[in-house]
Amino acid sequence: MRLFFETNNINKAKEIQKMLDSTIEILTLNDINLTEDIPETGSTLQANALIKARYVNNKTGYNCFADDTGLIVNALNGAPGVFSARYAGPNATDDNNMQKLLINLEDKQDRTAKFVTSICLFWNDEMFVFEGELKGKIIKEKIGTNGFGYDPVFLPDGYDITLAQMDLTTKNKISHRGKAFSKMIGFLKEKIN
Ligand code: IMP
Repeated sequence: MRLFFETNNINKAKEIQKMLDSTIEILTLNDINLTEDIPETGSTLQANALIKARYVNNKTGYNCFADDTGLIVNALNGAPGVFSARYAGPNATDDNNMQKLLINLEDKQDRTAKFVTSICLFWNDEMFVFEGELKGKIIKEKIGTNGFGYDPVFLPDGYDITLAQMDLTTKNKISHRGKAFSKMIGFLKEKIN
């Protein structure tokens, strides 16, 4: 059985394939030659995941899913949220985004934040949503070199190392994306058994 993942990120696709057995084969946009940029115009993570999953479902008719992740910072009223990838501008690097975040938090006492991942799955013409979150706080300077995005400034609750100091296996176990993927995989396993 084939399931399309609306991503060009081969590592994300491999990660999820590893969590499934061979009864479900994960295919990505590269496999179906869909090269158009799907505009993420939603005002929530769930809306963006839905836009992307619906686009692929409409184009191909296949079962498919899409994910969207954002960093929600309480003292910044939920920013950067859906703008996490381009917080410091359309061509921002991870460093640009983290720098902007640290500047905006300079005078704030409350540094609590969370990552949220929303997955939207189209399965046999029905739509399902799965979410995962990871709570923590934003530290004052970057520590660690693993991972990507805001990992060097994010200290997960219950840990004294940042996500960028963690190995990938540990991060995947506790992360927003790992939790959302696990929920979807539990659902798929029930459906196909
Ligand atoms: P995406 O929806 O997975 O593409 O994530 C959007 C943006 O959120 C990324 O470009 C990163 O800036 C940030 N982000 C997503 N997941 C993570 C993570 O696990 N660690 C740090 N930053 C992340």
